Amino acid sequence: TAQRETHGFQTEVGKLLHLVTHSLYSNKEIFLRELVSNAADAADKLRFKALSDNSLYENNGELRVRITADKDAGTLTISDNGIGMTRDQVIEHLGTIAKSGTSEFFNQLSGDESKDSQLIGQFGVGFYSAFIVADRVTVRSRAAGFGAEAGVQWESAGEGDFTVEDVEKSDRGTDIILHVRDEEKEFLDDWRLRQIVNKYSDHISIAVEMWKEEVPERDGPDGEKVAAEPATWEKVNTAKALWTREKSELSDDEYGEFYRHISHDFEAPLTWSHNRVEGTHDYTSLLYIPKRAPFDMWNREAKHGLKLYVQRVFIMDDAEQFMPTYLRFVKGVLDSNDLPLNVSRELLQDNRVTDAMRKACTKRVLQMLEKLAKKDADKYQEFWKEFGNALKEGPAEDAANKEKIAGLLRFASTETDTTDQTVALADYIERMKEGQDKIYYVVADSFNAAKSSPHLEVFRKKGVEVLLMSERVDEWLISHLNEFDGKQLVSVTRGALDLGELEDDADKEAQKALEESSESLVERIKTALGENVKDVRVTHRLTSSPACIVVDEHDMSSQMVKMMKAAGQ
Ligand code: ADP
Ligand code: MG
Repeated sequence: TAQRETHGFQTEVGKLLHLVTHSLYSNKEIFLRELVSNAADAADKLRFKALSDNSLYENNGELRVRITADKDAGTLTISDNGIGMTRDQVIEHLGTIAKSGTSEFFNQLSGDESKDSQLIGQFGVGFYSAFIVADRVTVRSRAAGFGAEAGVQWESAGEGDFTVEDVEKSDRGTDIILHVRDEEKEFLDDWRLRQIVNKYSDHISIAVEMWKEEVPERDGPDGEKVAAEPATWEKVNTAKALWTREKSELSDDEYGEFYRHISHDFEAPLTWSHNRVEGTHDYTSLLYIPKRAPFDMWNREAKHGLKLYVQRVFIMDDAEQFMPTYLRFVKGVLDSNDLPLNVSRELLQDNRVTDAMRKACTKRVLQMLEKLAKKDADKYQEFWKEFGNALKEGPAEDAANKEKIAGLLRFASTETDTTDQTVALADYIERMKEGQDKIYYVVADSFNAAKSSPHLEVFRKKGVEVLLMSERVDEWLISHLNEFDGKQLVSVTRGALDLGELEDDADKEAQKALEESSESLVERIKTALGENVKDVRVTHRLTSSPACIVVDEHDMSSQMVKMMKAAGQ
């Protein structure tokens, strides 16, 4: 009846395991962080489910994770009394990777281990990191709400396959048993384990316990007797939800470790903002900007959003209602005292509390970015490289914050003439020529096409800066961003070029004379091109090219026409 079955890992898991076991990590100890993190997630999930069914606690609501090393057996066990897993869940969760875009991700891997290790860090290895230090892993689990006979045992040597069989397990929850490799025996050392837990798992909101041996009666410093301490389970972390603690008592490292726990990212965050809000609404937010874009940022189905808690109780991951799409890279926690504990995704939709928090969180993020840009331009540039294209969706999505977002945008321009997008609209305005009242830009298919556009000739001649745009999203951005700081944004390829005050009288006269002397030529070209063009005009835009195509003031730009064509319209 034990029903022992062998299953093959999903192809991607196989590849991941190969990377893990071929010493991807110089930082082996992180396996413990991953396993403790999973245990804490399992506790969160049980607490949430128990809100509507208290019997799931089975009279034991004291949630904790215990770490036990057995030097003789060479095993390290991480044991939790969280939600547990059924047989089907074990097969699914410990045999496949559920993230969307996983196979595309693996196709990107180059085979060069050092490059791939960076990529894999962003992807996160989670449970599979157990194989960094173990040559065999046994998982025993029993889901909350089932009897002891519903236990299941999973086992694998981390190669092609794993086995599952039914077992008796009276305690609810999951034991992860690592058969530690001979050369990794340091991870069975009590002191070493405590050190790792302190370093990585202090902020975990459930107790992480380790067995403490009895301390016999002994002599105190003043000759008095100090009583014996009995052997006991000892809590080795703070076990207090990090966001409930005072900012002043939290170190950057602690914020960093908490970020890794909630984001499944292996890198430190770029920056964060931690706020307690009281008044009409009562909540705490802790919002992080990652260093690197997640591998699936451009995948439409990819999950994003904040981790939602209500009165310290975990409610859901990826609550996307609290962040606009253009800020989908933001990670963090929101803990509300106003929402009901039984709040669902549906309830979050069209909810006044949700709307207020979303507005406030959006503002926080924009402020955090403004601050970063002001304080540390290099770091801001790092941010821009990773997330600039997402932020460019902002003006279209979030009209209320258009001006703020526009202030955060960075562009390439004729001033710098490099592909680096470093020019802020405010920088541009500062450099505007005497008499210039508009912000000029050009959009093209590539940076080089933008940079060498014949439309720029007159601007270069007059020393007027032009923003060079060539990202796919730029056309979309610019169609929703008409002005900044009271200055209109104008395409250099559009309509009759009006350089306003920038033109002097001599320019205008020369222009007029040229128009008159060219009348018959213009007529001949018009006849020759016929229906293909709307109009033919003499221009002073060009200094070295003989002719160029312009788009009429209110017509679609040539970029937009191309995009529509590509979309089959
Ligand atoms: P992630 O934590 O990012 O989801 P992991 O690889 O760490 O990815 O874990 C995969 C899945 O396995 C988890 O999402 C969870 O469903 C399940 N799991 C892992 N460890 C436990 C545990 N201790 N208790 C219950 N479920 C677990
Ligand atoms: Mg995990």
